[in-house]
Amino acid sequence: MTYGVNVDPTAIRTLAPWQRTAAGAGLLAADGGVAPTVFAEMSALAIATGAINLGQGFPDEDGPREVLDAAREAIATGVNQYPPGPGMPVLREAIARHEHRWYGLEVDPAREVLVTAGATEALAATLLAFVDVGDEVVTFEPSYDAYGAVVARAGGIHRTVPLRFPDWRPDPDELRAAVTDRTRVILVNSPHNPTGALVDDEILDLVVELAHRHDALIVTDEVYEHLVFDGVHTPIATRPGAWERTISISSGGKTFNTTGWKIGWLTGPAHLVTAVLAVKQYLTFVNGAPFQPAIAAGLDLPDRFFADAAAELAARRDLLVGGLRSAGFAPSVPASGYFVVADAAPLGEHDGEALCRELPHRAGVVGVPVTAFVHPERRDEVRSLVRFAFCKRREVLETAAERLAGLSGASATPPAP
Ligand SMILES: *Cc1c(COP(=O)(O)O)cnc(C)c1O
Repeated sequence: MTYGVNVDPTAIRTLAPWQRTAAGAGLLAADGGVAPTVFAEMSALAIATGAINLGQGFPDEDGPREVLDAAREAIATGVNQYPPGPGMPVLREAIARHEHRWYGLEVDPAREVLVTAGATEALAATLLAFVDVGDEVVTFEPSYDAYGAVVARAGGIHRTVPLRFPDWRPDPDELRAAVTDRTRVILVNSPHNPTGALVDDEILDLVVELAHRHDALIVTDEVYEHLVFDGVHTPIATRPGAWERTISISSGGKTFNTTGWKIGWLTGPAHLVTAVLAVKQYLTFVNGAPFQPAIAAGLDLPDRFFADAAAELAARRDLLVGGLRSAGFAPSVPASGYFVVADAAPLGEHDGEALCRELPHRAGVVGVPVTAFVHPERRDEVRSLVRFAFCKRREVLETAAERLAGLSGASATPPAP
């Protein structure tokens, strides 16, 4: 079984453009089917065993009533046809207000905002717009699995800067070494998935400096911008010299518990946004008309909603981190996001992939091995690490913690189905 997308950048570079197929990019399995991702495999295991699924990051309860009501209202009042290409004005204006309210950024809703089918399409359209065959894209590693897949599909080369357990801070020298004149895009993900780390201002400023020196574009994935527990999230677009070469990407899915709606967006200088729109119009054209005014309503919710959502999620993080510690794992405490990464080595478990396959049977809980978020040559460094999601109801996390507590004991109680 292969984990994640098995991208071999050197192999892709040496292929002729017509050979750069999904197979060449590692998106197809040897049997010609879609290469299974570890998320699909683990979710299937959760269903088959009745285990608690802390693998995939989706909440198990609904978001704010105002947002759900606004979507129902939009459907009832005829907002059901193609919206405008760049997104409905009501949402683009709400996004511009949001950028000003939280970060002091002045964004023109007519020219500097683009609504997309989730952050996923924003990422794909941006990379397809700017990355040519042989161009390099630098990200941190571990990284969200879509990055490597889309870079490969664009014919680009994915270069990475390691983040190391347990503090996950990149080494500035390694960042300097990764960015060269071949770099087309530096893709920053902060708050970061899977580690929950916030990239600090010193590193953000180094990214801006390197982008200027090597004439690279900055793309930033900030879908967890409102789910911050410790410290402050700084959008890189607010740092000096960044805005003119930065595309900032976010989404309503994580903030409003509406991951199935796929309403995302990007902001940036008009000429960059227009280049992405040119690609986006032939990917999805438009998306989710009735959900757009609903996410606009969400973005305009009072500060209290955002503070409460982060505080509630922080309490859930504490529950799971505590449970993992009692079970014998060594968790790193995430400052943000949906996930905690825990080291299973103190339990005598050195192979996270094997552990994740056994965990549903041994403890009735599903996690994802961190090897799914790194290139094959870096798997050994993260071999014993497992990612668990805490965007679940408290009672679910409590049950998961109880079940995991049985792990270190020889006579673990088998979970109830
Ligand atoms: C969930 C997630 C996305 C995808 O967001 P959608 O709006 O659902 O497309 C993108 N980036 C990161 C880091 C994520 O965790």
